[in-house]
Amino acid sequence: MTLVVSGGRILSPGSPRGEARDIVIEGDTITDLVAPGTIRDENAQRLDARRRLIIPGLINAHTHSHGGLSMGIGDRWSLEILQTANPWLGGGRGAEDKYLSALITAIDQVEKGTTACYDLFFEFPAPSSEGMAAVAAAYNEVGLRAVIAPMVADLTFYQSLPGFIDALARVDGGKAGAMRMGRTAEIVTALERLAREWRDPSDRLRLGIAPTIPHHCTKEFMIACRDVAREHGLVMQTHIGEARYQAASSFSIYGMSMTRTMDSLGIVGPWFSAAHAVWLDDDDMRLLAERGAQVAHNPGANLRLGSGIAPVRDYLRHDVALGIGTDGCHCSDNQNMFEAMRAASFVSRVRGSPPQEWLSTEEVLRLATEGSARVLGLQDVIGKIAKGYKADLVLLDLDNVSFMPLNNAVNQLVHAEDGCAVDKVLIGGRMVVTEGRVIGIDNAALAAKADAAVERLHALNAEARRFAELIEPLVVNFCRGLTQTATLSGMHRLLPC
Ligand SMILES: [Zn+2]
Repeated sequence: MTLVVSGGRILSPGSPRGEARDIVIEGDTITDLVAPGTIRDENAQRLDARRRLIIPGLINAHTHSHGGLSMGIGDRWSLEILQTANPWLGGGRGAEDKYLSALITAIDQVEKGTTACYDLFFEFPAPSSEGMAAVAAAYNEVGLRAVIAPMVADLTFYQSLPGFIDALARVDGGKAGAMRMGRTAEIVTALERLAREWRDPSDRLRLGIAPTIPHHCTKEFMIACRDVAREHGLVMQTHIGEARYQAASSFSIYGMSMTRTMDSLGIVGPWFSAAHAVWLDDDDMRLLAERGAQVAHNPGANLRLGSGIAPVRDYLRHDVALGIGTDGCHCSDNQNMFEAMRAASFVSRVRGSPPQEWLSTEEVLRLATEGSARVLGLQDVIGKIAKGYKADLVLLDLDNVSFMPLNNAVNQLVHAEDGCAVDKVLIGGRMVVTEGRVIGIDNAALAAKADAAVERLHALNAEARRFAELIEPLVVNFCRGLTQTATLSGMHRLLPC
């Protein structure tokens, strides 16, 4: 069946004022872009796009579907407070909870113009076929395209930093030190099984592998993850240099930066992306560029957790490919890529560099489309409105106040639009959002289920929460101290914020 999206204006980084073109779609793929009114085929289905600005679907280069049920739980949380809270935030979840969390994350994305995401999904003690099926079911229900990467670790947060467990033992009686992640061999076996069995007939859901944070993984474990990923041709993503204490401690643990450490294990390559990458130096950037690796820039989460501001212009100068992400709801709440683009533009302006080095709105739009597509390993499939690419399209209402008056469409898209102008969203030629609302979901019923799940989980995790709150002040002090000690001893070169 042919679908013609007619009468709209196509906006892309290469054509910032938009071009009047009809889009011809066969199945899930764009087969032609033609002058308005050219297609006269009476059998073709038509979608009226008059007064609509059509953009390539935004692509979220980094999120976590397990965060959906935790939206709004934290406020003044740094990364180490979040890490301390993780056991009670995610504890005791069944398949239905995992499905609900992913469904909320997916709805928030598509209603705000995101058509694909890189989801680092965590399950304790190990990834499961049941959990992955629950996330896949949520994405299939909404129609979202995704790379779903089981997020794995074989060390706890407390095991990840030298001296941490001993320091905590003074207040917790050794409880944090006794915690363990799932067994290494079981996690690797689970990854191998998933990689062997993963099937998606629509080719919309792909598998990746995400060793969560290098500090939380033994070298042997990271090598095993690499081997599964390479054998099955899967992309990999990990959080690197998100918080300053991580950059600081990597030198005392490995005698080199975490990026260099990952590279020494053969993990850094075109299939690999580093999420956050706030505290990397020039040497790390050169290395990422040489290896063809990418960065997922998450300005909203970096601000919300007080992590810092990633030096995006420096990455671009080094020719490192970048995408933009929101991060999960537990660390940056909403999943709005328009907000992420706006934040990316704004934070590029506060590092003291001259205006010509700030990110332009056109660059930001390119990062959130083509750049993120590269991070997902789908650069030849999505991220552009062009022949042969998937029909992942967002139709924005030009009568919305964000575009009134229409002075400069790309500036307004990045600096004014907040997702409210999203009218329709197509993913693989299928309409998943109309009049700004996802199709086929009963929001009231979903809200009731989510509230009930959260009430049950909070009761179940109350003791774990009390423990996290008990040790939180010491955790914060320890991580701050780690940064200061490392900075004073000159063990590494931290970038000025
Ligand atoms: Zn993350």
